[in-house]
Amino acid sequence: MSPDTYLSHGVIDPDDFGGVVNPPVFHASTVTFRDLDDMEARGRAMSGADTDVMWYGRKGTPTTFALQNALAQLEGGHRSLLVSSGLAACTSAIMAFVKAGDHILVSDSVYGPTRHYVETVLARCNVSATFYDPTLGSDIAALFRPATTLVFAESPGSQTFEIQDIPAIAKAAHRHGAVVVIDNTWSTPLFFKPFEHGVDVSVHAGTKYIVGHSDALMGVITTNRESWNTVRDYVFATGQHAGPDDVYLAQRGLRTMAVRLERHQRSGLAIAEWLAGRPEVAQVLHPGLPGAPGHALWRRDFTGASGLFSVVLKPGYGREAFRAFINDLKLFRLGFSWGGFESLVMPFDPQKERPAAAWPYAGQAFRLHVGLEAKEDLIADLEAAFRRLVGQ
Ligand SMILES: *Cc1c(COP(=O)(O)O)cnc(C)c1O
Repeated sequence: MSPDTYLSHGVIDPDDFGGVVNPPVFHASTVTFRDLDDMEARGRAMSGADTDVMWYGRKGTPTTFALQNALAQLEGGHRSLLVSSGLAACTSAIMAFVKAGDHILVSDSVYGPTRHYVETVLARCNVSATFYDPTLGSDIAALFRPATTLVFAESPGSQTFEIQDIPAIAKAAHRHGAVVVIDNTWSTPLFFKPFEHGVDVSVHAGTKYIVGHSDALMGVITTNRESWNTVRDYVFATGQHAGPDDVYLAQRGLRTMAVRLERHQRSGLAIAEWLAGRPEVAQVLHPGLPGAPGHALWRRDFTGASGLFSVVLKPGYGREAFRAFINDLKLFRLGFSWGGFESLVMPFDPQKERPAAAWPYAGQAFRLHVGLEAKEDLIADLEAAFRRLVGQ
């Protein structure tokens, strides 16, 4: 079944819910058992492979199970778990595998708060980390130590957009007995299939394109068969949970994700191409754009691009000119997160974001999320911003 058809028909079986085509929203902490036999039978199911068991609200309800199963199916993983935020998914996927004394390898292009967690909480737990150049490919082999147990990748980096050679990295990691976790948020479960490229665990900020409407936070952890018990035990042991109303919003968003992404992709590429032709622009960092960094690997491993990319200006524009460029954008509003229907802009300093890998550009940089607006209106907004930048 193609993803589009699956998203319409495969998420639940309406006949399980009296014919209704959406899963009901269960608000539950207590789940009662008919008798001790029933309780014992469900307990056995819980401790076996099956987690779609009504046991206690924290461990999920049919609302949760429907979305978890849909996401695992779409991404090609074994099973998925929902947690409270994308960041919780990132930290849980790491913590599930490490112990004091371990060493991990983390992409230098990783989401900022994930880096912060590695540098503070993990360091306090005596887990050390080396941040690696995201473009190093199979050369990552040289960075493994006897204590290295995990590689955390993010491809493309959601600020600087380097594409990583994930199959080469996974091969090196598995030779050293390390697991590979990827933050696959940019691609959604549709455009990069991590488990076909050697990844063990995939995480998503469901907050972005899955929820898709900038109104709920959601984290997703999907694993292959071998990693499932480790991740599930960690997530259950630490009391992670996603609330039923947010889960409902995420499954509602998921239904239209493929069709929204078609528009994000088309408008994003058109605007990236337009930006690449501007005299003020040094480089557009959009892996789907021919000639842009990472494009060859993107073509090899990905089946699409979402609407998030960055732009580096030529050097020489002053601080005030850049502030005027950003400040009076009307349709690209200034805000964190992305993946909703609306366009966004966020300036950033790559020297601060990515200290371990050389940054070849001198100009100021900003990230765009291209939303669902008409692309002509978005281009007009940017055109006016360039006039402010050059003082016209
Ligand atoms: C936003 C984001 C996260 C964190 O998601 P939250 O739901 O905001 O906690 C993690 N990774 C990437 C790549 C993100 O863009």
